[in-house]
Amino acid sequence: MSKAEKELLLLSCCGPCSCGVIKTLAEKGVSFSVFFFNPNISSLEEYEKRRDENRRVCETYGVSFIEGEYSPKAWFEKVKGFEDDPERGKRCSLCFEMRLRQAALYAKAKGFQKFSSVLGISRYKDLNQVNAEALNVSKECEISYDFTNWRKGGIQELTHALIQELSLYNQTYCGCVFSKKR
Ligand code: SF4
Repeated sequence: MSKAEKELLLLSCCGPCSCGVIKTLAEKGVSFSVFFFNPNISSLEEYEKRRDENRRVCETYGVSFIEGEYSPKAWFEKVKGFEDDPERGKRCSLCFEMRLRQAALYAKAKGFQKFSSVLGISRYKDLNQVNAEALNVSKECEISYDFTNWRKGGIQELTHALIQELSLYNQTYCGCVFSKKR
């Protein structure tokens, strides 16, 4: 990929959260890649399952899929002291920040114009919390963040339809071992 070839790097957590956005952007002809950076995921087995499903969605729509490093040790260090926080608490802010920062740095290094994410697409997430972290990271890394609300514009309905149509593996917890215990 040459410098500034792509408009957007989309940070994704899994196939179910990203499929509607990926299909929509691909059909609009947006030049973008999907970035899978999720050291928060509870085990290697679960990580690989989500990664492979996300890659399958990308292949379906002809979108390039980039895998970041699976570094759970660094993630546990990041959220140390906040393990018992409830979902939407400080642990989640730190988790969002870590993943968004990696996406921003990758996007900048590879010449993407901006970055975005689907981290706030689920109704279980606080979109404002994700956006607050994205804003800080965007300023610090000096690269624009696309604040499009991916819950709107029919994407949520499309997402539900695609999960069925593609028979996507749809996990029942956010990702980390603490969200699994809920
Ligand atoms: S619940 Fe989800 S967003 Fe929150 S820390 Fe765990 S994996 Fe990250």
